[in-house]
Amino acid sequence: MSVQVVAAKMAEVELKDVPTGKDLPAESPMTPTSEGKTLARNDPHEAGFSAAASLAAEPSSAKAGEGSPGLLTPNPPKMPQASAMKRTDPQQNGGEAFVNRDGTVAEAPRMKKQIQFADQKQEFNKRPSKIGRRSLSRSISQSSTDSYSSAASYTDSSDDETSPRDKQQKNSKGNGDFCIKNIKQADFGRREIEIAEQEMPALMALRKRAQGEKPLAGAKVVGCTHITAQTAVLMETLSALGAQCRWAACNIYSTQNEVAAALAEGGFSVFAWKGESEDDFWWCIDRCVNVEGWQPNMILDDGGDLTHWIYKKYPNMFKKIKGIVEESVTGVHRLYQLSKAGKLCVPAMNVNDSVTKQKFDNLYCCRESILDGLKRTTDVMFGGKQVVVCGYGEVGKGCCAALKAMGSIVYVTEIDPICALQACMDGFRLVKLNEVIRQVDIVITCTGNKNVVVREYLDRMKNGCIVCNMGHSNTEIDVASLRTPELTWERVRSQVDHVIWPDGKRIVLLAEGRLLNLSCSTVPTFVLSITATTQALALIELYNAPEGRYKQDVYLLPKKMAHTDRKMMEREREREKEELR
Ligand code: NAD
Repeated sequence: MSVQVVAAKMAEVELKDVPTGKDLPAESPMTPTSEGKTLARNDPHEAGFSAAASLAAEPSSAKAGEGSPGLLTPNPPKMPQASAMKRTDPQQNGGEAFVNRDGTVAEAPRMKKQIQFADQKQEFNKRPSKIGRRSLSRSISQSSTDSYSSAASYTDSSDDETSPRDKQQKNSKGNGDFCIKNIKQADFGRREIEIAEQEMPALMALRKRAQGEKPLAGAKVVGCTHITAQTAVLMETLSALGAQCRWAACNIYSTQNEVAAALAEGGFSVFAWKGESEDDFWWCIDRCVNVEGWQPNMILDDGGDLTHWIYKKYPNMFKKIKGIVEESVTGVHRLYQLSKAGKLCVPAMNVNDSVTKQKFDNLYCCRESILDGLKRTTDVMFGGKQVVVCGYGEVGKGCCAALKAMGSIVYVTEIDPICALQACMDGFRLVKLNEVIRQVDIVITCTGNKNVVVREYLDRMKNGCIVCNMGHSNTEIDVASLRTPELTWERVRSQVDHVIWPDGKRIVLLAEGRLLNLSCSTVPTFVLSITATTQALALIELYNAPEGRYKQDVYLLPKKMAHTDRKMMEREREREKEELR
């Protein structure tokens, strides 16, 4: 039984059945006795060990999208009388209210306006007209009119609807080789970068240590990553080490506009803004790559889109490219596919599987930011909520740990028997998605796989279920299947859509299925420092490697180098301590 049902019953009892002593039921569901029984039935340890046992017996029984053999579906405690159990009719649910940060209560928009979605697969070459581009940028205009929960960028201008592509901007030195939302936000962005520097000791230490040697002198790095204050510290470090950089965003929502402005003011060629359309996204990447008099010789990618673009449009560029550094599991997967097909023509460094990234960024970053992302978008209370987390890899482990600590009841689906067993050992209930999909309040995907939550599951979710993704790509939830005429989309906040079924049931879809934390919240700087340092070291290694050290294949950063950033951080901390003494 979900916490809402309990709450609804309490409210019903309060309003309708104010009990006198003699009216009290012999065993109310809220009495300690029955609560105790409920807890006993829901005992995670019991569930965990049954699952572990069944896994140990049948390790191969897990199937894609299903997780392990089914476990206990919690037995609901004894129901109260019918009057207290009246189900809320979703059709009547028009007048939902939100409490604003200033304490005022606002009604959610009632108007069910059908949103026209731009064709996601629109070909880059079919450049839309100015007006067409605006219509593609549906999410910009709608999100920028709502400053409430837009978290990744603090300075979104709600008035400025002009597409950055239609603006002519120059920095204070007269340089206009960038395309960002608003160069006037540069000072604010600079402060953001300075704050980030405080929490990025490894990168700052690398900057200090290698500044004299300039190990990246002559490097022309084209980058496609989330453009945040932390990335800015990385870019400025690469620049201090001698590299020239051109940069685009790897996600249409995650750019911090003020940071992009500070970078542009500092002379970086940045092409990115929060709320790009699909067409803008590829346009920005193209502007980084296809520029007269500048040919990249290193790629720093997150997700593989930049690499893919160069392969597709400018394959000859690879003649001068010395290597690719790839950050995400998705991008690494694409690289391995290229390598398998014999099409990888330069060495690539897999930063994702570097121990310094996996064990910090994926795990701890997500552990902290999943709550932030959910809270900022929905104000949901976590205690007592039933949550299913799909995938118990590093990201899944982080999400589960955070939600468990907040008092949520957490279910896990997994297809890998080892990770499934880990979930059991950590006290989570391992389930098949179809067993719990009707009852859960929140669904979170973090598998790096696609079509994990398909339309069939979305159809069966309960009214108000929050659906979001923490994996890299937006294909974990089959959002495309929700873009059908019978479903109504209602934008209720920045990055928050209600998708409404004909019977009035609605689900709350966050960031249109894109990764939640980077779209809707900020992420802890310290872990990003570790990843960014790993990226910088990987660039230095590939750029300076003697001929023949790396072939056209995917490599892990040599462990010795991966360890240097941890050591460097420790040294830096020691140095700081000494300075304080
Ligand atoms: P991982 O490989 O450690 O874990 C993924 C897990 O999902 C695996 O255990 C796998 O068995 C499981 N899985 C795959 N398909 C499944 C399915 N259909 N149903 C249930 N489980 C399934 O990867 P990770 O490091 O946890 O990363 C997961 C995703 O998150 C990747 O796309 C990665 O790029 C992304 N990521 C996001 C952030 C962030 O800040 N949001 C940070 C790092 C990584």
